[in-house]
Amino acid sequence: MADPMAEGMPMTRPLLNSALAGMGTTIFAEMSALAVETGSINLGQGFPDTDGPAEIARTAAEAVLAGRGNQYPPGAGVPELRTAVAAHQKRFYGLDLDPETQVLVTAGATEGIAASMLALLEPGDEVIAFEPYYDSYAACIAMAGAVRVPVTLRPPGFRPDLDRLRAAITSRTRLILLNSPHNPTGMVATRDELTAIAGLAVDHDLLVVADEVYEHLVFDGQHIPISTLPGMRERTVTISSGGKTFSFTGWKIGWVTGTRDLVTAVRTAKQFLTYVNGGPFQYAIAAGLALPDTFYADLAARLHRKRDLLADGLRAAGFEVFVPQGTYFITTDIAPLGKTDGLAFCRELPHRCGVVAVPNVVFYDDQAAGRSHVRFAFCKRDEVLADAADRLARLGGR
Ligand code: PMP
Ligand code: GLN
Repeated sequence: MADPMAEGMPMTRPLLNSALAGMGTTIFAEMSALAVETGSINLGQGFPDTDGPAEIARTAAEAVLAGRGNQYPPGAGVPELRTAVAAHQKRFYGLDLDPETQVLVTAGATEGIAASMLALLEPGDEVIAFEPYYDSYAACIAMAGAVRVPVTLRPPGFRPDLDRLRAAITSRTRLILLNSPHNPTGMVATRDELTAIAGLAVDHDLLVVADEVYEHLVFDGQHIPISTLPGMRERTVTISSGGKTFSFTGWKIGWVTGTRDLVTAVRTAKQFLTYVNGGPFQYAIAAGLALPDTFYADLAARLHRKRDLLADGLRAAGFEVFVPQGTYFITTDIAPLGKTDGLAFCRELPHRCGVVAVPNVVFYDDQAAGRSHVRFAFCKRDEVLADAADRLARLGGR
């Protein structure tokens, strides 16, 4: 009898759930693999090439050795981290949260997003997200059986178009998935923009899921959590993570905050995804959150300088640069280099000059809107950014 496990047996129906059909491998995995294969400088996937503070790393190591968190931590996260998250929200934004009921630790912001979508959406609900959107949004909305409705951010400023947002709202709209500071454009929503978005959410009784993972990486303007605006506390799920702020993207310690009802809903989904994660790392991120204001100011100042360094290099190499207000990404347009297809450009770039970037088109439904945009990460050592700029200059754009 034929072995049904043997390779090559035709399956009667596609293996992959239709919600995920066509999603393939993430652009970050594809481009990081290309960087390794070609020995290129990886300005694609956003991760720092220098680890975060040694004292935070030491806290994690000591926790492992002392047996703190080596067995399943509490489902909502260790009390030390929940308390530290609440204290952080109070210190930076004046928000009062009960660490017992209004803070939930997740496996990175990624799980916070997934659990929020699974918890808060019914099949057929519509979710409005500004595009380009972080790639997991589309997947999580689809896994929840919901429908994404993109509203396009356009260069040079990538400002939220409030008329288009208003026009996108229907009777089926359940929530707005908002990301500010915004990956990949670096847009940081202003108080006026957030107030307008909040007004629409209140008028139409919508939830907002606010992805604020780049909250401390702001160079121009100010990060304002939408949950601080009138009427938003009871309808906002706020998500952040230690990955960007503390430069430990591999630890995957994130958190969700909101009212007790919202956090309870998200926790109900989350408990069946990972249940818990990263016990010892939770203590370390708690220590990180308690660092003085100077840590946060220095982080932003350091990245601000790197932003300018890479922006100058990209401009000199002939790219049109859209200077980001926040995050550690720069979006560029390759049109001045005589190119229009960002995906093809990124696939060739490592072979042409030994640098890897990410094509923004994969973050769009409206492919034409992002076709010629390419994103570069600047969370790298200065000498690496300088080397990348030299290599890109060889493209001969100018
Ligand atoms: N949201 C955005 C906008 C991101 O850019 C990222 C990752 N870099 C995440 C969420 C996921 O964060 P984490 O690594 O904490 O899961
Ligand atoms: N958030 C990171 C970025 O935008 C990548 C995270 C991932 O690899 N999924 O580059």
